[in-house]
Amino acid sequence: MPLKRARSQFLRLWERRSRPDLGHWPGGGMEACLSRTTGSHLLFLLYTRPLFRINEIACNHLMRVFMDRRKLSSLPIAAELARLNAERVSLQGVLSRLGDRHGHVCAECKGKCCKGTRERDSFIDRVVQDPETEHLKARRTVGQPVAFKLRPHLVEIDLQNAGHRVCGGCAMLTTKGCQLPYDLRPIQCASYFCTAAASALTAGEAREGMRAVRGLMRIQRRCVRLAIHSRFIRDFRHPAHKTGEPAKRR
Ligand code: SF4
Ligand code: SF4
Repeated sequence: MPLKRARSQFLRLWERRSRPDLGHWPGGGMEACLSRTTGSHLLFLLYTRPLFRINEIACNHLMRVFMDRRKLSSLPIAAELARLNAERVSLQGVLSRLGDRHGHVCAECKGKCCKGTRERDSFIDRVVQDPETEHLKARRTVGQPVAFKLRPHLVEIDLQNAGHRVCGGCAMLTTKGCQLPYDLRPIQCASYFCTAAASALTAGEAREGMRAVRGLMRIQRRCVRLAIHSRFIRDFRHPAHKTGEPAKRR
């Protein structure tokens, strides 16, 4: 099966190159993982990794450059952000459900992709979840994720988990996994699947995951469009606003 061999070879090289720190492969080892991958898995990995990363970096920078920050809380912009946020939550729900299918793989790996202390929430994450956020720089170096403002009870969970922090990892990483509920996680976290995690999915689930990741990428691009409108269209009106439908926030 030359095609299957080529696919395995490609994934092996790719994984070694992109995740040299992975050490051993969770989920039954490299060979077992690679033998489970199909064309759908490959396409899914293409979306979750390089294509998503390019889209994420470009959209975050563009939205930050174009966004007229004074209009973030204005009704039409806030209404559109609320709509985008509701779609984000629903798509992240799909990925979270798929993520449960590979929970055992991540438990074995102990969250290697969450290592590194830099904050993961991006400009788009912060603005979409909370248009009134004061963290409007590309990187949030101080303060807490928006999640703690939106769900104050999470602070309590934070204190309970303080003894279970993972050293050298993201501030949200505990020995029981990510502290943030799926709907408040950064988009990049929800979209990330390594080869071992993706191979725990069926081909149908990989296609479902790919559709969800593409949906999240589309939301990021719509954020850029909204930012451009906020800058150049003085009387920006969302269609729902025109028909008098009330703006919904979570
Ligand atoms: S997705 Fe799961 S298995 Fe893959 S690197 Fe992250 S924690 Fe480990
Ligand atoms: S926010 Fe959660 S999923 Fe994202 S890197 Fe931190 S611990 Fe991992």
